[in-house]
Amino acid sequence: MKRRNFIKNASLTGVGITVGTAIMGCKDKNNTEEMGTTKETKGEKSTSIDMAKYPIAICTWGFVKANAKAGEELSKDKSALDSVISGVAIEEENLKNTTVGKGGTPDREGNVTLDACVMNPEGDCGAVLCVENITNVAALAKKVMEETPHVMLAGQGAEDFAYSQGFKKENLLTESSKKAWEEWKKESKYKPIINIENHDTIGMLAIDKKGDIAGACTTSGLGYKMRGRVGDSPIIGSGLFIDNKIGGAVATGMGEEVVKTVGSFLIVELMRNGMSPQAACEEAISRIVTKSDRYKNFQIAYIAMNKAGEVGSYCIHKGFTYMKYQNEANENIASGYYNKEEKS
Ligand code: ASP
Repeated sequence: MKRRNFIKNASLTGVGITVGTAIMGCKDKNNTEEMGTTKETKGEKSTSIDMAKYPIAICTWGFVKANAKAGEELSKDKSALDSVISGVAIEEENLKNTTVGKGGTPDREGNVTLDACVMNPEGDCGAVLCVENITNVAALAKKVMEETPHVMLAGQGAEDFAYSQGFKKENLLTESSKKAWEEWKKESKYKPIINIENHDTIGMLAIDKKGDIAGACTTSGLGYKMRGRVGDSPIIGSGLFIDNKIGGAVATGMGEEVVKTVGSFLIVELMRNGMSPQAACEEAISRIVTKSDRYKNFQIAYIAMNKAGEVGSYCIHKGFTYMKYQNEANENIASGYYNKEEKS
């Protein structure tokens, strides 16, 4: 079902710019609108982008407040990177969200371990893996990107680095998550399968008023995972990929399968080669579902956006939605899906 949520926002400017051009001439196969006007100058093609389309923020699932927060920040001229980090922080701090940040579902031994990554328009990136006791791991990933010579920090090293940067130590296991874990232990049936209603990694992409794109992805990962397990979400190219000439993509769902197909990088490369975000997301899902019938047991969803502000989304099973903020509207949109045989 389609829901519409509108938030108040500052007005947008209507200036146009010309960007370079791997995206030119690309059409969405479901939508014949061209991605901007293509013109040829001295043998070099370029695409004129309508700046009135910016800013835009999209995120996985129905995270209305998180996407609205990113929209507000973008409207206040914040950069795409800072806006997505502020946006996803809403869910990292939401104790009721059992799949992101504080309040996340623990591993099978009762430890809440978080994964996150960020990528900026310059193509720099930062990631933290399997971090305990720190809530805002997307912001921490940005610190890794900006304050260290590395792109990834894991476990205790990431946690110690967080304290050195002023992050505070917090107990991420809430009473209700602890209770659910204790119930789960009684049943003691570990299945490394993500129930299709039970995963909510927040991946967010934004284009700011300057026309630059950035993204963030943050999660507590698969519930009751093995200790030390890391999925796709903090892996650049799998959970998230950005190319400021082309666009970006993020993933949610069974991380192991996203990693095997390097899903987000694949989508950006398909867009580079002329596919629309929608067609690219569909192709990335097709790479997974054509391998075997195992896809029936897990959900994967992608969202993508190109520099012309076109968005796309596709998933395996019905039920995935995503948020789109643009022109003061923050809209929840139902994604297309592959498995049409399922009962609704
Ligand atoms: N992609 C996340 C992971 O595999 C989980 C999810 O989105 O549900 O850790």
